[in-house]
Amino acid sequence: MNNDKKSSWQEWQDKNVRTGKDKVILRFLSNLADHHGKGTYWIRSQYPLYQRKFYNIPKDYLTKAFFDYLMNTMPSWLPTLPQVAETIHDRDDFVGHWHTIDLNEFYCMDCRSDREGKEGGMRHIFYYGYVPSKNKIAEYRCVANCDCKLGKKNTRSPLHDTLNWLRRIDESAEIHVSYWCEATQRHVDPKEEATITWQRRVDLGVLRYGDPTQNEDPRALFPCWEHPIWTGPIGDMMCKRYGFEMPPEVLERYKLRPRLDKKKRFEEAVKLRRKIGKDEDAPISAPKSLADLLGGS
Ligand SMILES: [Zn+2]
Repeated sequence: MNNDKKSSWQEWQDKNVRTGKDKVILRFLSNLADHHGKGTYWIRSQYPLYQRKFYNIPKDYLTKAFFDYLMNTMPSWLPTLPQVAETIHDRDDFVGHWHTIDLNEFYCMDCRSDREGKEGGMRHIFYYGYVPSKNKIAEYRCVANCDCKLGKKNTRSPLHDTLNWLRRIDESAEIHVSYWCEATQRHVDPKEEATITWQRRVDLGVLRYGDPTQNEDPRALFPCWEHPIWTGPIGDMMCKRYGFEMPPEVLERYKLRPRLDKKKRFEEAVKLRRKIGKDEDAPISAPKSLADLLGGS
């Protein structure tokens, strides 16, 4: 009998608890049920109501809010769903628009800032051109609303208006907008694609232009494998980002790069913190530049 009961509860969970957020809700309800002597029947009846009520709220936020509720708010009586919801909506960090979004709407890939697409709406813009306030060619960064359906609901200025406004300031300015790159599965920062960024990499000797005498396209960029960045900690990431493949001898050096393992890194951090903590007489001041330390300036 007991076994049957257990397996039907398990069966119910297998059928109904699918996502990470489902698990968060179930855990919260199980906690309430345990605390107030309710059984699985009560959990099953409340579960779909909770799912519906908190559908639009990001999982990480819900996890934190439920945890705080259990730790700090839990009344001595069994709270109803509206009471729980009210406490959560009254939190200072609750974002009002979570409830004005339709259940089936999501921020687009280009502007979402969480895994579920319930937060986002912002596009970063990089501008390199004439800046009137500085009266010279310079960099300028700003943000605008995304042009997707949910992004438009935000109160910042719309993407196209912002781009047109920047274009009017300097027609020949270089302008880039952040976006989601499907191939590398990441958000691309607008500055990454700017000519000055590429030029800086060439100046630093990380990349070089093609050599026509070697049958290379002089407009294309190639990695300078001698540069230590390729065999440093971010070498692999850089190759993936730019679509380069390490030649075997570089890969060999990359694999041999000096590395601190996690435990060592943690110990170093603790040591450093102790050292800083002990130095009670040290006046709090801005970090010194290398030139200051060497007495140069
Ligand atoms: Zn968007």
